[in-house]
Amino acid sequence: MDNDDFRQWSRRAADWGADYRSTLRDRPVRPPVASGDVFKSIEVSPPEAAEPMERIFADFENKILPGMTHWQHPRFFAYFPANAAPVSVVAEYLVSAMAAQCMLWQTSPAATELETRTVDWMRQALGLPEGFSGVIQDSASSATLAAVLTMRERALDWQGNKQGLAGQVRLRIYSSDQVHTSIDRAIWVSGIGEANLVRIPVSGRFRAMDTAALEAAIIADRDAGMLPAGIIACVGGTSTGGTDDIAAVADVARRHGLYLHVDAAWAGSAMICPEYRHFWTGIEGADSIVFNPHKWLGAQFDCSIQFLRDPESHVRTLAIKPDYLKTHGHDGIINYSEWSVPLGRRFRALKLWFLLRAHGLEGLRTMIRNHVAWSEGLAIRLAKEPDFELVSEPMLSLFSFRHRGGAGVDADAHNLRLVNAINDDGRIYLTQTKVDGAVAIRFQVGQFEATASDVDTAFETITELARGLT
Ligand SMILES: *Cc1c(COP(=O)(O)O)cnc(C)c1O
Repeated sequence: MDNDDFRQWSRRAADWGADYRSTLRDRPVRPPVASGDVFKSIEVSPPEAAEPMERIFADFENKILPGMTHWQHPRFFAYFPANAAPVSVVAEYLVSAMAAQCMLWQTSPAATELETRTVDWMRQALGLPEGFSGVIQDSASSATLAAVLTMRERALDWQGNKQGLAGQVRLRIYSSDQVHTSIDRAIWVSGIGEANLVRIPVSGRFRAMDTAALEAAIIADRDAGMLPAGIIACVGGTSTGGTDDIAAVADVARRHGLYLHVDAAWAGSAMICPEYRHFWTGIEGADSIVFNPHKWLGAQFDCSIQFLRDPESHVRTLAIKPDYLKTHGHDGIINYSEWSVPLGRRFRALKLWFLLRAHGLEGLRTMIRNHVAWSEGLAIRLAKEPDFELVSEPMLSLFSFRHRGGAGVDADAHNLRLVNAINDDGRIYLTQTKVDGAVAIRFQVGQFEATASDVDTAFETITELARGLT
């Protein structure tokens, strides 16, 4: 591809993107394809000869697009959003054109320094105190892994990386049973082992860890000769928005000298609104906090910020300094590859910078407040219907519900059929979860372009299809 072609096809792609975004409402959110359809449509072997771009692009439109789930669709109410505001897409285009590998300050000074600045912008936006610094990770899973590794190394006096875990005292990590599976995986990968992730029972509307039980478990483990290393708390769990009492958990962590990591991957975005910060009162007592601007806030995937109270212990856990990476003679410069598990890193700060400037915090707050209000409105409407019940009350913009089938109908099977019917219909997309062992349907409003009328469409679709099931 020569430079003229590059220019022409980049323009084509930009036009395509704008057309795509403006026609999303006309498309089914989830594609009506069967497993294997796309795979079978792709040539079995790679081409020996160059193909014309026209043909490649046509195949993208004809073979790939029909098999895409449209995450930027305004009626995407499944999972959590992965919002890519148009302005962040433009920034990503620039990033991909420059294609810098930003592992060290010297491999991209601007990327490093903009990262430091935008992370601090987000610290201020979320109301976190001065003294927290941070890094942009690829995902909350990576941030949590890095936090668990730091817990491990602190507890083992920095001997885990050197000696391995064989022969060491058993490490113990504590969390509720509402945490995301990325916590389990961090525990597996760090070598601590699932048997040493202690699940503390939860109670109350927000399914918060019982902190008395947490403290009792820590003391019992220590008495039994084990080594408590850290606590993972959550604000806005994936299933129903489970949220721990961070102040109380931080208190326990402080009393027992444990490292506290808080997973607010989804809910963290809402903390730009002061009125929601009561959900994480006490957050300044955390050692590590992760939240994903690539979820609700609108920074194109991937963009996950990990705030750290003491980056020293984090860097001491993760930094390797082979000679060829050393940047001699620069005091005080940051090499962000020392703050994460992967060495190579993309320039992730640019899209955040563009996003924050183009919308302003007020614009983003309005979006989030609208989503919360519309979600609460829908929860109230559904609860008033005689054949629907709320399973979990709204936590920010997330709630769950169930439809009551007729007498003798298996409730779980009935609600799974309803989710499938809704998603096959295509007007909206949502997902199910299990609450206290029973199937519930999750609903969250979070898509960047969603409107009140999209949420009305959700109400109509859900009630119509539920009553159509026999
Ligand atoms: C989405 C989510 C994660 C995982 O985030 P990734 O960035 O995909 O790793 C972890 N915890 C919670 C609460 C989440 O909502």
